[in-house]
Amino acid sequence: MWPKRMNLTRHADKRARTVIEVILNSRCVRKLRRELCAAGSREIGGVLAAEQVGDGCFLVVDLSVQRNGTYSHFERDPIQHREFIRRFHERMGHKPERFNYLGEWHSHPAFPATPSDVDFCQMQSLVEDVEQKSTFLVLVVVKLGLNGELRGSAYGFRPGFAPLRGWLRSIEKGAIQEDFFTRNLDSRKWKAKA
Ligand SMILES: [Zn+2]
Repeated sequence: MWPKRMNLTRHADKRARTVIEVILNSRCVRKLRRELCAAGSREIGGVLAAEQVGDGCFLVVDLSVQRNGTYSHFERDPIQHREFIRRFHERMGHKPERFNYLGEWHSHPAFPATPSDVDFCQMQSLVEDVEQKSTFLVLVVVKLGLNGELRGSAYGFRPGFAPLRGWLRSIEKGAIQEDFFTRNLDSRKWKAKA
């Protein structure tokens, strides 16, 4: 079970759109580039540890790396990542409302850096899993582009709602470029699953 969570602001006006902004610190950008380079055509991934710095705005301050994926498949090992987050809480002095597990990341060396249908389904069932107490989770998908540039996308997941495209940025301007892929996120489909 995760401790008390950081939260997304619930707007009184339901028409107001929830916005998620995910910012990578310089250390995470360097770590991702190094790991993606070393992994080559294998998928790798892990979890994101973040600080909430504003409404719906999260600074990723550390990320775990699991390196045993294949060309088109990455399966997370929850035990490894739970330990990483436990140590993160310890390091940050146990302030779960401010510093916490934000979600997952993995790479798509052979595909666009946007979630696949399987990724969307897996994240949705993860956020709807009663065992974990998150009210929302983020998925970041990354890759190295043809010129060695870091590319990626971020999506937010909430129980009973369609996934939400977020903004993915880095502290250093231009250190990550967003990948876009037109996908019809039909909210009825996701609500039906809830
Ligand atoms: Zn994927």
